Amino acid sequence: MADNQIFCEKCDKPAVYLDREQGIHLCRNHLKESVEDEVRRYLKTIRLPETLGVAFSGGKDSTALLKVLSEIRSELPCRIIALTVDEGIEGYRQDTIKAATETCLILEVPHEIIRFQDLYGYSLDHLVSGSERNACTICGILRRRALEVLAQKCSISMIATGHNQDDHAQTALMNAISGDVKKVFTGYGSSSWYAQRIKPFVCVSEKEVTLYALLNGLFRDLPECPYAVSSLRGEVRTLLYQYEKNHPGAMRNAAQCEENIRAKLGGTYQQEAYKTCSICGWPGSGIICQVCMVLGKDTHLNPMTKEK
Ligand SMILES: [Zn+2]
Ligand SMILES: [Zn+2]
Repeated sequence: MADNQIFCEKCDKPAVYLDREQGIHLCRNHLKESVEDEVRRYLKTIRLPETLGVAFSGGKDSTALLKVLSEIRSELPCRIIALTVDEGIEGYRQDTIKAATETCLILEVPHEIIRFQDLYGYSLDHLVSGSERNACTICGILRRRALEVLAQKCSISMIATGHNQDDHAQTALMNAISGDVKKVFTGYGSSSWYAQRIKPFVCVSEKEVTLYALLNGLFRDLPECPYAVSSLRGEVRTLLYQYEKNHPGAMRNAAQCEENIRAKLGGTYQQEAYKTCSICGWPGSGIICQVCMVLGKDTHLNPMTKEK
């Protein structure tokens, strides 16, 4: 067996990872270092605020991100707070919330949780009953708002998310397939209302993120969300893995293409102006925002109704 052992490119320890694109094998320490360096490089390009929020679901990506940020926190000009949204999904969220709370204790990162139940008056299970097919869409709309509400409560103007390179590549391809140019620019540009989103893992592959969590003893075998259904994203994911296998670098190129388009066109692309929701007063694309659409147009029953 010993003859087949492959060693790290940077030291003589056994390799745990092969960077196919660069053809480099790395040991556990050098893999960790390369992930942390990638995040350092990314953060150097950003003007960090006093407090950086970390969208922290308790899943492997956001756990790995929180770990990296806690590892390099002495180098950062800001403090970090983990922000968790509890959607209220029976048989799934209790375990992941517990894992998230434990991780924050281990990493000594302050942790804030917001619950759908408290914000909207109902759990996700209740809100989607009868329309489970749209659960992911509804959850996405409500989760985004909940995270914003929590960020505002904590005076946080910037949120880091755990999206990795594979996620970005998938999103780019899905946007191309749907032909929706608007989506390429959604959330890009300035809106003082919403916290700015940053994605420190944009150049880190899903495999590296997973290994990073594993090697740090932070990977937990958590249940899958019961509402996750086979989707276009799943198909695109499989397709991209195949491309990456045959054409190393394809994933990175796909992940970066939208960033390059934004860098070239961001300033010239005319975004649609935000309208103010007549029920909750938040900015949205119509006179009633998506959140209020989901919660119902009856202002007496809608918990988001702005105070008069
Ligand atoms: Zn090494
Ligand atoms: Zn609204």
